[in-house]
Amino acid sequence: MPETHRVICAACQIDLTSPDDPRPADICSCPQCGVSDSFANVLDEAKAYATELAARQLADHMKRIASRNKGVTYTPGTIATRDYRFILRAL
Ligand SMILES: [Zn+2]
Repeated sequence: MPETHRVICAACQIDLTSPDDPRPADICSCPQCGVSDSFANVLDEAKAYATELAARQLADHMKRIASRNKGVTYTPGTIATRDYRFILRAL
């Protein structure tokens, strides 16, 4: 994961508490609402969030291009939406 991003609680928008240099099985949790999971699952979810965000930004970009160019049509594909407990925040 890029160092310029950190994983935060999606509901509280605050940093998770985790051990220094966490291993995959270590538990990370939100100090405010208490949502927690293993570091590996937290990372997976945050990565899925980042992937979905990138897909939406690309779709928006393509829509803008298509709207400016008469010869270009763009049909957005389906982007899966899920509820995220953990998301990435750019620093
Ligand atoms: Zn929280």
